[in-house]
Amino acid sequence: EARQFGGSRIARHDPDKTRRKTRARDIERAMWTAIDEEELSLVYQPQVDMRDGRLIGVEALLRWTSPTLGRIFPDEFIAVAESNGFIRQIGRWVLHRAALDARLLPADVTVAANVSALQMLDHGILDDVQSALSESAIPPARLWLELTETALMSPSDCIIESMRDIEMLGVSWALDDFGTGYSSLAYLSRLPLRKLKLDKSFVQNLDTDAHAMAILRSVNNLCRNMDLCLLCEGVETRAHADILLGEGCVEAQGYFYGKPQSLEEVIDTFCGGATQVARRG
Ligand code: C2E
Ligand code: MG
Ligand code: MG
Ligand code: MG
Repeated sequence: EARQFGGSRIARHDPDKTRRKTRARDIERAMWTAIDEEELSLVYQPQVDMRDGRLIGVEALLRWTSPTLGRIFPDEFIAVAESNGFIRQIGRWVLHRAALDARLLPADVTVAANVSALQMLDHGILDDVQSALSESAIPPARLWLELTETALMSPSDCIIESMRDIEMLGVSWALDDFGTGYSSLAYLSRLPLRKLKLDKSFVQNLDTDAHAMAILRSVNNLCRNMDLCLLCEGVETRAHADILLGEGCVEAQGYFYGKPQSLEEVIDTFCGGATQVARRG
């Protein structure tokens, strides 16, 4: 193929590509034991009401420490887990762990788990959510699920149906990383969403980029008009928070309010440590 353009015989071997493939294969191999060997864990990032700093929810974020590969972040291993189907088992584990952990938080604090579009393609997700709810006995209203916007760029009927089934249980849906995909307003109104999470890239450009402000205002209006909650991601500084508060935004998540941390740390920081005595089950 290289020859087609002027007959160059320079080999097209791409060392980066080889390295990526090897890495993906190593991750895939290590993944098979991750659940059984208890290598997965969840950290929780606070979601707050910016007006008073009150904790309104937490988002569960997956962490994996492999004995052979060390710490691997979800941006790297979720894609591998999606390509080999392992995401279903991982997703089930996440739902159960997050629902069980919710019992240790005050009853007015919600727990959000991330769901991969791939989990939505079969109806197993409904069973998984149902069994996580019944095992933990938490009220369904305390559980939120997040789907990324890119996952929903052209949502199949199957995905919409799964979302509706789960919504019928009393669980709520948030659209994650909003603004990074290409949402059509037509489908936004077809999905059973209760919240948009404005992607951190917009929040982080607020102090420097006039377009970011215009986008924030439009999204804020959109949410008001469509009766959706808005949560701003990636709030890293007091300046970000002040701008957002000035625009009438309420919910936020970001390093300024708290990094992803252990459940115990969240409880100590935000709940006066009152529930410390409770045992993790
Ligand atoms: P996400 O759901 O949008 O989660 C937010 C990500 O932004 C997290 O990265 C979080 O650590 C990071 N973050 C939070 N606040 C700030 C901030 O102020 N500044 C900056 N620069 N970053 C911030 P993390 O934990 O590496 O997760 C990355 C992505 O991996 C998540 O994005 C989510 O899409 C996916 N993911 C995480 N856990 C799971 C899971 O259990 N299942 C699935 N399917 N995906 C997951
Ligand atoms: Mg998320
Ligand atoms: Mg996000
Ligand atoms: Mg993300």
